Amino acid sequence: MAIDEKTPVRPIDFEEDVIQRRPLTTQTGLGAPDAISATPGVLANDDNIVFTTVNNLVNWARSRSPWPLGYGLACCAIEMISASMAHHDTARFGMEVFRSSPRQADVMIVAGTVTHKMAPRLRRLYEQMPEPKWVIAMGNCASSGGEFWDSYSTLQGVDTIVPVDVYVPGCPPRPEALLEGLLRLREKIAKGG
Ligand code: SF4
Repeated sequence: MAIDEKTPVRPIDFEEDVIQRRPLTTQTGLGAPDAISATPGVLANDDNIVFTTVNNLVNWARSRSPWPLGYGLACCAIEMISASMAHHDTARFGMEVFRSSPRQADVMIVAGTVTHKMAPRLRRLYEQMPEPKWVIAMGNCASSGGEFWDSYSTLQGVDTIVPVDVYVPGCPPRPEALLEGLLRLREKIAKGG
C-alpha cells in the first residue's frame, strides 16, 4: 500500500453495529422482553439513544426546574408575581413552583429594595437554601440601590451580601425582562454554573 493511500473505512452496518450493540433495555423498563421487536428487549427505532455524562444530565434537569423562593421586598415583587400568572406563565419553563420555605427552593429572586434592616434576614434565608443555589437581582434597587442610591437606609446592591448570578435591570423590570433573566439563568445552570 502506498504511503498516501488511506485504509478503506468499513461502512457502519446499522443492524450489526448499532442495534445489536444496544444494551438490553426498553423504554418501559430495564431488560423487559419486547415481543414485537426484532431484537428482544430493544426498541428498534433510531432515536432512543443519548450519549452524555451524568454531570450534563443532572445540570440539564436542574436547569429545567428551578424553584424560586416566594418572597418579595418592594414594587418589583408585583412584576415577579405577574410573571408567574397566566399571561406570562413561568410554568412554561418549569419555574412556577414558588416555595414558602428556603429549604425547598434553589433560586432566590431578590425583587425590590433591600434595606439595611432586611439585609441580615435575606442573608439568613440564602444560607438556609440547599446547594446548589442561584440568585437573581431583579430591578435597579436590588442591583445597585437604584432610586435609593447613597441612601442612609438602603443596601447599595444585594451582591454585597449574597453572590448574584443574573442582574435584571429596570425600575421595575417588566415580567418579560424577568423571564429573560430566568432563561439566562437556565443557560448558566445547564453549563454547570
Ligand atoms: S427598582 Fe423600582 S420598582 Fe423595583 S423595587 Fe426599586 S423602586 Fe420599586
